[in-house]
Amino acid sequence: MIKNPSFADRPVAVLFSGGDAPGMNAFLRAVTRISLSRHHVPVLGVRYGYAGLVAAAKMDFEPMRAQVETRIGRWGMITDGQPLVLMDHSAVSGIVGTGGTILGSARCLEFHKAEVRADVIAMLKKLGVRALIVCGGDGSLTGADLLAKESDLRIIGVPATIDNDLDFTQMALGVDTAVNTLVWAVDHFKDTARAHRRVMILETMGRGSGELARLAAIASGAEMVITPDPKPLTQADMKVLAASIERGMKAGRSHAIVLIAEGVKVEPEIKRNRAYVLADAFKEHFEREGGPFQDLEIRPSVLGHLQRGGHTSPQDCILAARFADAAMKEIMRPDGANGVTALRGGHVGIVPFDAPPVEDSEERSEAYLHLHESLSSWEEL
Ligand code: ADP
Repeated sequence: MIKNPSFADRPVAVLFSGGDAPGMNAFLRAVTRISLSRHHVPVLGVRYGYAGLVAAAKMDFEPMRAQVETRIGRWGMITDGQPLVLMDHSAVSGIVGTGGTILGSARCLEFHKAEVRADVIAMLKKLGVRALIVCGGDGSLTGADLLAKESDLRIIGVPATIDNDLDFTQMALGVDTAVNTLVWAVDHFKDTARAHRRVMILETMGRGSGELARLAAIASGAEMVITPDPKPLTQADMKVLAASIERGMKAGRSHAIVLIAEGVKVEPEIKRNRAYVLADAFKEHFEREGGPFQDLEIRPSVLGHLQRGGHTSPQDCILAARFADAAMKEIMRPDGANGVTALRGGHVGIVPFDAPPVEDSEERSEAYLHLHESLSSWEEL
């Protein structure tokens, strides 16, 4: 008979924080199954990221612990106001390829306060957790690093963000799925663009990073990609881009797909989606008097949160399992260190929170842009 998980066996706590990314559920499933089956260590799921830890730290300790030990797995997850849940095998059944995170993710402003983090540390130590795994993006991993510095708890970070803006790993969880989704979206836009001889301007996510847009442009065959640069894009720059589209059209092209990353700076700065700003500049160029394509349709679209959801790609599910494996091995090593899981040169391992970049990210983006330019050979047929 399988005994119920309990705090006596010193669980590994795991939380998901910040923007959700495909692969978070695959990671939770992998870490739960590896921990229970291989290491016989219980897993404590934290609901809604750091907010769940902060909520648990504010509760009366003994009744909170008793409830968590009684209401395990799915029962705990449907119990209102239970921020911590001891996971069992069935709680993670059927979630491997699903987007989002069944434990919930959140942003938690209170966690920026040192005294709040001190309460969280005290609560985790009193519960006897052997380690905390934090799965999330840049901000979440900064919070994890602070916890590691401010306590003797074992802390492991796991990079999960579709932005792929974490320079210690070649890939974060969620990037591959988001690229797949973007390729799917571009294919759909391409059909209608071809039918009507349209220019489609599609805005991608990625915050300050253009990595997602660059990868999607290479994989989808988009004609043009514009990614963040320290130098803002001026109206004159936009006209130059429009003129290049015009030359392509003159050479016989039937349509154009332009990807623009949400973090592109424009001058004059305006709080408006980049796809619309660029579309207006393009329209102005094409509708000019005497222009050869005055009726050309320019259609902007902001792809938004659709890039976060959907079925997780097999690549991301595999990476999630590899990250979970590396995290658990490190946690179980008596002399294991704190750090983050990372993919470097094809290998998955643990690197320190302040590890040097895996490669020069500026050089990498230059290389991607150059590659895309050669592949699109836009003005030739
Ligand atoms: P992401 O992890 O996707 O980059 P955020 O930047 O919003 O998302 O960070 C998620 C959460 O991580 C924040 O709401 C906060 O709880 C925590 N966090 C972020 N930065 C810090 C920080 N400097 N100190 C402490 N906690 C932080």
